[in-house]
Amino acid sequence: MKRDEKYYKGCILGGAIGDALGHPIELKKLKVIKATYGSNGITNLTLNDKGVAEITDDTQMTLFTAEGILRANCKKGRCYIPAVVYNAYLRWYFTQRNIDTSGYDECTYNSYLLKYDELYEDRGAGNTCLTSLCKEEMGSIRDPINNSKGCGGVMRVAPIGLMYDKKEAFRLGCDCAALTHGHPSGYISGGMLSCIISCIIEGMEIDEAIEHAISFARDMDGHCECVEIVEKAVKLSENDLVDTDAIRMLGEGWVGEDALAIAIYSSLKYKNDFKKALICSVNHDGDSDSTGAICGNILGAYLGSDNIPKEWIDVIELKELLENISMDLLTGYEESEEWFEKYPKN
Ligand SMILES: [Mg+2]
Repeated sequence: MKRDEKYYKGCILGGAIGDALGHPIELKKLKVIKATYGSNGITNLTLNDKGVAEITDDTQMTLFTAEGILRANCKKGRCYIPAVVYNAYLRWYFTQRNIDTSGYDECTYNSYLLKYDELYEDRGAGNTCLTSLCKEEMGSIRDPINNSKGCGGVMRVAPIGLMYDKKEAFRLGCDCAALTHGHPSGYISGGMLSCIISCIIEGMEIDEAIEHAISFARDMDGHCECVEIVEKAVKLSENDLVDTDAIRMLGEGWVGEDALAIAIYSSLKYKNDFKKALICSVNHDGDSDSTGAICGNILGAYLGSDNIPKEWIDVIELKELLENISMDLLTGYEESEEWFEKYPKN
């Protein structure tokens, strides 16, 4: 069992670090990445003029997922959890679009996260997330909001695996991704990631965690794409192909199942070396920050924060907030004024 501070912090900080590592190369082809950073591609965090490695929308939204499930936990089963997470995503949408909140229940826009300027930064917010949340209607598996399978559903749901057991994590990961992504591959990939994180926290090896995620996915309509590519990623990780060639066979990470598969390939291939895994997960033609974020979530939960390079943890943007919310996810619920102030019951 890994219900321990270092694995929770590992998952959340690891995701943020992967996100930051991939951020400068998100829209660059591998050829250009190599021409800019050398034949090994990008191998270190890029710092801004404040000496900080910037996170992107993936981590911003992950923080709101965490906040949403912590708020739902305070309601003690008196709520539909995805609806509470949906309100958290509306708060993220508010940070990106500064919408008029005057017609809303005061509580919807009351959150300590809204005090962090960094969360208002435009760091490449995904179009599907923005357009879905703009509609002010909640997407669900039964009533899909669109037909998108972009990776915006999966890249944000890791915290769910830290709070719920594997079966619940799978279901909730799917439901929370389906709030904005209506194609089965857009939300089943989310369920699979949450489930993998939950299994790792339960103490499983990564490959065993993946098997559980696959078996839950098989019960869902429209699971074939996700299951097939994840199985392909597992097989490829056992081969001796050059990483960039293997990853090319898994896609570019723009859609949920490809992003998850690239992260899984990298996590399995370098499961004892956080740095190597992350470098592997971001150096490709596609959505480098999202594949890096997902790989960082998985391997951070598996290896723990003490196996993440300290020089990377020290420079990650919002480090303290990321660490504190990890601790809150570990605590889950606390009967105190201070807690209810952070995570209001209503
Ligand atoms: Mg991003």
